[in-house]
Amino acid sequence: MKQRLAILGATGSIGVSTLDVVARHPDRFEVFALTAQGRVDELEAQCLRWKPRFAALGDAAAANDLRGRLRVHGVATEVLAGEHALVELAAHPEVTTVMAAIVGAVGLAPCLAAASAGKRLLLANKEALVVGGSLFMRAVREGGATLLPIDSEHSAIFQCLPEDRSGWHERIDHIVLTASGGPFRSRDLATLHDITPDQAVAHPNWVMGRKISVDSATMMNKALEVIEARWLFDLAPEQLRVVIHPQSIIHSMVVCRDHSVLAQMGTPDMRVPIAYGLAFPERIASGAARLEFETLKDLSFEPADRVRFPGLYLAWDALRAREGSSAVLNAANEVAVGAFLSGTIRFTDIHRVNAQTIESVLPELPAEAALSDLLALDARARVHAQAVVKERTR
Ligand code: NAD
Ligand code: MG
Repeated sequence: MKQRLAILGATGSIGVSTLDVVARHPDRFEVFALTAQGRVDELEAQCLRWKPRFAALGDAAAANDLRGRLRVHGVATEVLAGEHALVELAAHPEVTTVMAAIVGAVGLAPCLAAASAGKRLLLANKEALVVGGSLFMRAVREGGATLLPIDSEHSAIFQCLPEDRSGWHERIDHIVLTASGGPFRSRDLATLHDITPDQAVAHPNWVMGRKISVDSATMMNKALEVIEARWLFDLAPEQLRVVIHPQSIIHSMVVCRDHSVLAQMGTPDMRVPIAYGLAFPERIASGAARLEFETLKDLSFEPADRVRFPGLYLAWDALRAREGSSAVLNAANEVAVGAFLSGTIRFTDIHRVNAQTIESVLPELPAEAALSDLLALDARARVHAQAVVKERTR
């Protein structure tokens, strides 16, 4: 039977790469639903190409616009609107597989819906797991969902583990997430405050959405990934390590109890982890170029500098602090990155906003926090982060 896909965030970098892989395997996949926030032109083109049963956009006006356009072309896609549509589509009884490729904590509700409905859930939307933590993993367990990491580092770890997952936890000493170090790895520290949004989103190895590109430049992306790995692989904070590897060829490593190291390698192309998530436990063509070892010059490694990348170290602080601290950190970072991208604060202020917010907003979550508790905490952290942004506005 074909997998029936709902792609949430279909117009983004991961969404487009997902459709590229899907297009290579018409025998395996059927596109059932596509969603986007506001890019009507792109979503229209995707609907014309894929003729999904459903499409969804962020608001009613955009949905109306798309509905009219599709009618002209005689495409019978039903167009929905708003956040609730994402939840509905993620849990739709006819959907087998959900690609969560929305950016930000807004992805948590649809991810929980997919998890509770027992879907095969391909998770690119790391913020949802950082915010949702134990609630998210409980929904996966109780709903009987298959959670497949799409983040390249977590896919790498996943690919290094035995397919049946038997006994792997006892075999691991720790894991090492690799990080490229982003565009400012060797930039003069004294000039970091002058960085513009365009410079920050120009990543040396990966083409990605604007928010994750800024996160890669501050290494907050790696901080979120450390937290993501804690939940995906149920590891203690001291079992989570990070090393800078500028070539992005080794996507991450598992260090076993006997200190044997398993690494997953490949050209930096998100279609590899996407294809793995789509086909697991099988392997299918991804479209990515082969790694040619004969021409591979060097693989180098260096520690992540605390002065240059202070944000990275907030991950362990958040993991060791009260439950909910990761949600506070994520909310602050979403606000700070938004403010930086709109030219309101400086690049170096992003860390100030994040550090001050997790110091000031102490989470008070009930024992088994519900979605509403997490969203309330997220909102409280955003208010605080906005206040710090205001103080630092240029
Ligand atoms: P992107 O900005 O290119 O795309 C985001 C998608 O989400 C778009 O389709 C957009 O319309 C939709 N969206 C944005 N805000 C929304 C909202 N409020 N409600 C509903 N939909 C919304 O981002 P991306 O680079 O594709 O990243 C998506 C997710 O995948 C992020 O969580 C990111 O951290 C993760 N990820 C991306 C990459 C990558 O290579 N791009 C790698 C690893 C992980
Ligand atoms: Mg990653």
